Amino acid sequence: MSGVMVLNTDNTALHTVSVPHAIRMLIRRVAIIEEAVADQQIGPYPVPLVLRLIRYVKTTFLYGRAPAWSKRSVLRRDGHTCAYCGGHGTTIDHLLPVSRGGRNTWLNTVCACEGCNRRKADRTPSEAGMPLRFASRVPLWREVSPRP
Ligand SMILES: [Zn+2]
Repeated sequence: MSGVMVLNTDNTALHTVSVPHAIRMLIRRVAIIEEAVADQQIGPYPVPLVLRLIRYVKTTFLYGRAPAWSKRSVLRRDGHTCAYCGGHGTTIDHLLPVSRGGRNTWLNTVCACEGCNRRKADRTPSEAGMPLRFASRVPLWREVSPRP
């Protein structure tokens, strides 16, 4: 069984902990269960999947918030793979085009090759009939940080 996700009070994911660690947090009343495995108990507690802290924890720069959006980071997140054809991508495509109010956010942008970007133009993927091979998402820090 993998770890238990710990959320801050504002719902940002902080880290994962082991199940025994999660139970100790419940016993110490520093967290509550946000999501649990159905029909499984450890003593009086359901088996947690996601915990939420009771008090806000101010986090360090490195893990406190999602990495800032940048074109280069989107390319890095997607491994320079075009989200439409799987080829080598060097451009950023906005799922909801900028001309229609789409913004530079992690969830609204994917890596695309020039050909697909041009073909999709000012349309959404479904309007263009160009399904995504992978979903846009907020990356982990280590995915977009420059390699040491
Ligand atoms: Zn492509």
